[in-house]
Amino acid sequence: MDRYLENKVAVVTGASRGIGRAIALELARCGASVVVNYNRNAEAAAEAVAAIEAEGGQSIAVQADVGDFEQAKRLIQTAVDGFGRIDILVNNAGTTRDQLLMLMKEGDWDDVLRINLKSVFNCCKAAARSMVRKRRGRIINISSVSGIAGQGGQTNYAASKAGIIGFTKSLAKELGPRNITVNAVAPGFIPTDLTADLPEELQQKAIESTPLKRMGRPEEIAYAVVFLASDKAAFITGETLTVDGGLVM
Ligand code: NAP
Repeated sequence: MDRYLENKVAVVTGASRGIGRAIALELARCGASVVVNYNRNAEAAAEAVAAIEAEGGQSIAVQADVGDFEQAKRLIQTAVDGFGRIDILVNNAGTTRDQLLMLMKEGDWDDVLRINLKSVFNCCKAAARSMVRKRRGRIINISSVSGIAGQGGQTNYAASKAGIIGFTKSLAKELGPRNITVNAVAPGFIPTDLTADLPEELQQKAIESTPLKRMGRPEEIAYAVVFLASDKAAFITGETLTVDGGLVM
């Protein structure tokens, strides 16, 4: 196995389940020590840590609602206190409150923007100082094809994910001179708890519209993230890499 992230410290938000869990495991397989962040699901986070340790990796779980600035600060501080620094930040935590705009409650808009977009501001702001001090860092923000192409019933979600892309480009310009890269990954349709409630008909439609004629696997998002986190991606910044089977090319 290629352990090209040996001695690196990574924080993955929302790593108790789904795509975040796959990212945490893959980073650890490549040698990184991984902070597994979760919000509510302590049991799943403990299981993710145990899975990393079972493969010989180093990991701790840290509870924090990353949509809250003080909690995000505590998460990053715990990583720095525990491992001495932070080299890789993956802003993955996310949620949906799908509804047509005419029926969408203000709270559904606010919750999604807070959890999906403000969390990225919170964690980047908290982690930037440590990275700038070391003049090295990798930030990877998980966007979505919805933020690129839009999706009916997802004005809140698509706005948060499009916001991540603009944020990523702007921060890449700010932090580039400090040798810190900032990129986004935009997954297509991946079966996780987030998509489990989508009607079968919509799932089939998504597969039909995907040139590769299948859903992606969480691991396939993780491979892209690990690449962007590595030295091999040192000259890539401000980019949004779609990993979607060709859905929005
Ligand atoms: P998921 O299975 O529902 O997992 C969501 C994760 O986010 C969980 O670990 C959850 O923690 C965590 N989380 C939620 N709110 C949080 C908060 N306020 N603070 C900290 N952690 C929080 O979702 P997923 O499908 O893996 O999605 C991961 C990311 O990929 C999201 O940003 C999503 O928008 C994006 N994405 C997914 C797809 C897809 O098809 N699945 C497509 C495009 C983009 P708890 O377990 O503690 O609740």
